[in-house]
Amino acid sequence: MNSWKDNIRKVVPYVPGEQPKVDDIIKLNTNENPYGPSDKVRSIRLDLDNLRKYPDPKSSLLVDKLAEYHKLKPEQVFVGVGSDDVISMCFLTFFNSDKPVFFPDITYSFYDVWADVYRIPYEKKPLDENFNIVKEDYKKENGGIIFPNPNAPTGKLVGLDFIEDIVKANPSSVVIIDEAYIDFGGETALPLIDKYENLLVVRTFSKSRSMAGLRIGYAMGNAELIKYLNDVKYSVNSYTMNTPSLVLGSAIIDDEDYFRESVGKIINTREKFTAELERLGFTVLPSKANFVFVSHKTVPATEIFEKMRENKIFFRHFNAPRIDNFLRITIGTDEEMERVIKVLETFCSATK
Ligand SMILES: *Cc1c(COP(=O)(O)O)cnc(C)c1O
Repeated sequence: MNSWKDNIRKVVPYVPGEQPKVDDIIKLNTNENPYGPSDKVRSIRLDLDNLRKYPDPKSSLLVDKLAEYHKLKPEQVFVGVGSDDVISMCFLTFFNSDKPVFFPDITYSFYDVWADVYRIPYEKKPLDENFNIVKEDYKKENGGIIFPNPNAPTGKLVGLDFIEDIVKANPSSVVIIDEAYIDFGGETALPLIDKYENLLVVRTFSKSRSMAGLRIGYAMGNAELIKYLNDVKYSVNSYTMNTPSLVLGSAIIDDEDYFRESVGKIINTREKFTAELERLGFTVLPSKANFVFVSHKTVPATEIFEKMRENKIFFRHFNAPRIDNFLRITIGTDEEMERVIKVLETFCSATK
């Protein structure tokens, strides 16, 4: 029997972190930034009359601002509805080959979902036993390469030489570096886009810029790469960026002092929190992100996860091979992390 169901594009969707609908919780499960927008941005009055009209399809207000900020030409910048939208467009645009796309086995769990939904072949390259990306794995024939730097959920950073080696070895593929967390202590691959026309660097406003709810992400590369991205975008939806996002996004980029201050606070808190966790018997991977990836020497991750939940503290647990005894903890404010340590102390200790 034929059924309409035979003709459906079936996918196993990405599962986002929980957004609990209860008050007074400490939410450390989706890497949001605890500080929110600056007073300057909060004081912006949006002209709602303007929403009668379609937004600028070129998103020039924001694109020009980002180009100026990163010392690029506007033709080198592509904006989208969060970097999820940007990366999804990249998969559709650049990964159009019969050869497999490469990414790590432990990484942002959206990559294999996009590959599946667009029917792109892929191979996951295992991280080594210390959760490092193995460079040599990315020097084989492929249809494209993507990984985050720092990687997620490990928080581990690779250097520019490492990235340059991979880009150089792959002149027939587009290499995408997902820099969702680069502002928390990493060195950006951006200077390499002038040297390599197959390199694309992707950023988001959701983490370091504290605006996950606004949904802004962007990609930077040479003008030709960006043109191909725009061609696909205009073939799917010309008006991805709404007018309030363009106005607020551009104002956020103007607020450099606030940005540096809040990122500095998070880095500071991360280092203090890491030391406290180690005191309680946790192994903490060295993180250059706004989260830490941790495992306790004796208490199982699922037990910690549940106990914290009972105390209205939310961590992220991935029920996946190799990392199911780890927890990913977003760095919140100092006060939040002190409370976390207080609760952890009641049932985790280095000597238990
Ligand atoms: C959070 C995240 C994204 C997506 O962020 P958006 O909110 O869609 O901008 C992309 N890649 C990685 C590795 C992330 O952690």
